[in-house]
Amino acid sequence: MNFTHYSLLAATALATLSILPACNDAKTAAASENKAVTLGTATDSAETATITTAGTATAATTNNAGSPATIPATERADAATITARPQVPILCYHQIRDWRPRDSKGAKDYIVPVEQFKAQIKMLADSGYHTILPDQLYAYLTTGAALPSKPVMLTFDDTDLDQFTIAKPTLDKYGYKAVYFIMTVSLGRPNYMSKAQVKQLSDEGNIIGSHTWDHHNVKKYQGQDWVTQIEKPTKQLEEITGKKINYFAYPFGLWNPEAIPELKKRGMDAAFILAEKRDQQDPLYTIRRIIASGYWSPRTLHNSMVNSF
Ligand SMILES: [Zn+2]
Repeated sequence: MNFTHYSLLAATALATLSILPACNDAKTAAASENKAVTLGTATDSAETATITTAGTATAATTNNAGSPATIPATERADAATITARPQVPILCYHQIRDWRPRDSKGAKDYIVPVEQFKAQIKMLADSGYHTILPDQLYAYLTTGAALPSKPVMLTFDDTDLDQFTIAKPTLDKYGYKAVYFIMTVSLGRPNYMSKAQVKQLSDEGNIIGSHTWDHHNVKKYQGQDWVTQIEKPTKQLEEITGKKINYFAYPFGLWNPEAIPELKKRGMDAAFILAEKRDQQDPLYTIRRIIASGYWSPRTLHNSMVNSF
């Protein structure tokens, strides 16, 4: 692909992104499936209290969970065991900014006003939640390793600048860490994070994950698309952070079983969807998250966490 072609594609992708938050069109699908999932998770919810926790005293130790590579394959639980473990609540955020007159009703699920975001995070802290990172989640799911009490994972998709300027300082206040799933086409563009900011997030103990080059739907990839959308962007993120990238989030939360071996081949140890049902064979590649809506009060957020996981 020559440079002109690359630039044109990037411009097209960014033009699309400026109209709507990137994950917007998956909302309806995710919402409709969410209902079914909620109905089907009574067992999971009932078991939530049984998540193995180490308590706050040893939380610092469990924060040092090694990468998936440190866990021998023979020590990893099978799919049924992983699926049976209580799920850890995982929240997905996009833009953190005040609503503008032109924001559509649907877009506001993906745009959390600044004070609303601060109130949501404060609720988590006041309620005693501890943020965990993907290596801890992986160790918990595959070996039953203990987690801090009241674990939650915070994830941010699509590289938006306000995740660095607004979300990060808020999380820093509480000693919270998060996962940032980066769409590399946007790096350094106006209103998106720079490479230096991504590097800083990584250096400060947050996890950088892969979220494709320009947010195309994984279900439509063929041949070279795997290189363009997964291999090259992941390599770029590894160069920026100086660390191996182990985790992936599907654009729009959309996935199919064919994508999983392709992700495995490219070094991903786990992948994140949205609120739909997990895959029975590969639950690690269909880890559920819910979108923390801009409409949600702290109480609504908490209810959703309890009901969805
Ligand atoms: Zn996205």
